[in-house]
Amino acid sequence: MTAEVEAVDLFVIGGGSGGVRAARIAAGHGARVAVAEKFRMGGTCVIRGCVPKKIYVYASRFADEFAEAEGFGWTVTKPAFDWPRLVAAKEREIIRLSAIYASNLDKAGVAIHQSRAVIEGPNRVVLDDGRRIDAKNILVATGGVPEHRPVVPGLDLAISSNEIFDLPRLPKRLLAIGAGYVALEFASIFVRLGSAVTVAYRGEQILRGFDGDMREGLATQLQEAGVVLKPNTSLAGIERAEDGLRASLTDGTVLSVDQVLMATGRRPATDGIGLERAGVELDRDGSIKVDAFSRSTVPSIFAVGDVTNRLNLTPVAIREGHALADTLFGGKPMPVHHHAVATAVFTTPEIGTVGMGEEEARNCLDMVDIYKTSFRPMKSTVSGHTGRTIMKIVVDGASDRVVGVHVLGEGAGEMAQLLGVLVRMGATKADFDATMAVHPTAAEELVTMRTRTARYLRENRH
Ligand code: NDP
Repeated sequence: MTAEVEAVDLFVIGGGSGGVRAARIAAGHGARVAVAEKFRMGGTCVIRGCVPKKIYVYASRFADEFAEAEGFGWTVTKPAFDWPRLVAAKEREIIRLSAIYASNLDKAGVAIHQSRAVIEGPNRVVLDDGRRIDAKNILVATGGVPEHRPVVPGLDLAISSNEIFDLPRLPKRLLAIGAGYVALEFASIFVRLGSAVTVAYRGEQILRGFDGDMREGLATQLQEAGVVLKPNTSLAGIERAEDGLRASLTDGTVLSVDQVLMATGRRPATDGIGLERAGVELDRDGSIKVDAFSRSTVPSIFAVGDVTNRLNLTPVAIREGHALADTLFGGKPMPVHHHAVATAVFTTPEIGTVGMGEEEARNCLDMVDIYKTSFRPMKSTVSGHTGRTIMKIVVDGASDRVVGVHVLGEGAGEMAQLLGVLVRMGATKADFDATMAVHPTAAEELVTMRTRTARYLRENRH
């Protein structure tokens, strides 16, 4: 064990999206920076999240393409899917991306320690090999970990999104618990790869917090794709069976399945990194308390990304990391605002959304105007696919400002990115109306919805 003490301006714990961005930008500003990452560079998003998920989404959608091709004159004979080949292709891509992350850090002059790091005090961390490093600033960017709820007998037999990508075999029967991003994205993927999929969730409807029409529209189309939805239902227990697992649900159903995917949210990864000893305060949900500049209750310790549980999305962590580096070393104090962040749920069909849903707007605003359309996209009318695209614009009736836009359908995620710009800029419905359509696209409906579908006035405001 060596007593050697190095010194850096910024020590980053965690090589995920937020940590890597902060490290790279800080080094670019001339800071001496080190990153500790025990596993591979890239974090949840690159290794076992967004990136492999999107690869699997692409894989799954070929099933629809093969079916729809018939309507356009093609004869598609016996398409066959090979799970191990998909897993291998995914693995090649994340190895490539992880290497890029590491080499970008290297090129920026950031020291990489393949190790855990534990905070020993406001300005010191210790690595697995006992090496101590003095740091003017410490950034905790350790992300989050899946949290399995409720705790029931046999829970250890279930898997999380961490394991599902690398299963040795495609599960023929999959039960997902929860109705958030993870449960529904994997339900969409696996039903198309040929699994029988059931999703059980405690609420009345999927995707709590999203616009009601998006929730209902997606639930319908998941069922049309073959997913069995079980609302108002929780997991009661899991046991081993000869042919896999036996999962008991609270409605009395017992399902024979090959895998149970727990997708009941995540918790901040704060265990065992010395936060308490350093005096860093945690919130009630276990996240690190930070201000708008990502500073914790200890002035030299900062946190970005899921470990702060502000808005658990990769681009948000990246922005928080970048802003922190600019604040500390770029002479540009940059607070991060989490207003009008566009997001996509990569189900099939996907949801692209920004701003308030109808229900939220009706709670917050005195007058809400709704513009809504639902149509079969051109491709479906020819192919015979039953899926409908749903679009909704939520407008503050008093100012004409668009406060939310929601799309369910092909390309919704791509649309959401640009809609995010408009909502942030404060575009009005009149701006949408004045914009010329791009024809023939689905997105043109967003600028051609002239007739208001509903107007809601809030009564008894005070
Ligand atoms: P979510 O928070 O999206 O959903 C959690 C689900 O678990 C909800 O249906 C919730 O029900 C349910 N749940 C929570 N507690 C319990 C309980 N005690 N018993 C039964 N059910 C429970 O989490 P996910 O795991 O789906 O995703 C984790 C995070 O990853 C999300 O915060 C998301 O931001 C991120 N993510 C983003 C993606 C994207 O941007 N496309 C893709 C995948 C993940 P209820 O609604 O009733 O609380």
